Amino acid sequence: TELLLQVEGLKKHFPITGGVFSKQVGEVKAVDGLSFSVKKGETLGIVGESGCGKSTTGRLLLQLIEPTEGKVVFEDKDVTSLSNQEIRKLRREMQMVFQDPFASLNPRHTVEKILEEPLIVHGIGTKEERKKKVREILEVVGLSSYHAKRYPHQFSGGQRQRIGIARALMTKPKLIIADEPVSALDVSIQSQVLNLLEDLQNEFQLTYIFISHDLGVVRHISDRVGVMYLGHMVELADSEALYQKPLHPYTEALLSAVPVPDPDFKREQIVLQGDLPSPSNPPAGCPFHSRCGKCMDICKTTRPQFKEVEAGHYVACHLYE
Ligand code: SF4
Ligand code: MG
Repeated sequence: TELLLQVEGLKKHFPITGGVFSKQVGEVKAVDGLSFSVKKGETLGIVGESGCGKSTTGRLLLQLIEPTEGKVVFEDKDVTSLSNQEIRKLRREMQMVFQDPFASLNPRHTVEKILEEPLIVHGIGTKEERKKKVREILEVVGLSSYHAKRYPHQFSGGQRQRIGIARALMTKPKLIIADEPVSALDVSIQSQVLNLLEDLQNEFQLTYIFISHDLGVVRHISDRVGVMYLGHMVELADSEALYQKPLHPYTEALLSAVPVPDPDFKREQIVLQGDLPSPSNPPAGCPFHSRCGKCMDICKTTRPQFKEVEAGHYVACHLYE
């Protein structure tokens, strides 16, 4: 399979400033050395607790923020070395769907204006063509052309997320990064939106990166899943492999908290010790060692390499070295 996106050694460290002169007093290692790739047409899920760097990763991939280090290659272009103008062009191809559709939609604009905007920004089509496209896309996401003249507050949460998805589709992107796209929705609405995303993927040959704190949600939509902890990816595998046979102790702990429908199949609940350490003061060695029930001496001093231990199954843990 062809690769759409390749990420190499991606880092984002935010400075922490303090004092009257706002001197830098430290840094938050929000993303601290990610390497993975995304295949054309697949859905890659990225999961982790809040603060693990998954949203920062999404924004880095879209070049909404600049990386401290590392490379993002989209198709054959190294997007980290593009000019602003080239980045703007590239934005047509990579779009984002956000968690809170209401906050991301301008309340004073009609749906038509909201959906037309990306086309105007990128200079696509005549006014006539843009209006036609808005009506088409509204139908595609399960709304109607008569919704075009309404305002965001006139829609339910699920409908607003359809509008958010419609807006992302306007420029015919190849990649959509969805950051917690259903987390703000009722469970019954969640599955409708997930189904819509899957239908759209097939219809438009989309590639998704699906970011969520919820392993249960990610499972059904993802072909592969990457698990993040404190700015690192600690495990990456095909969904089935990850859920059936997690290798990293952190993945095991996360999975043990996901309810299983089969009553005969019991996972022992693993309770993590302690709190998530601060990304401004991460533990030495394995970033998970302060909470790991299988921690060994080497884990406290030496960071485990992220490597392929079975075909397509990557893990960063000394248990597999
Ligand atoms: Fe636990 Fe050590 Fe593996 Fe880290 S490297 S997850 S501390 S066993
Ligand atoms: Mg799929």
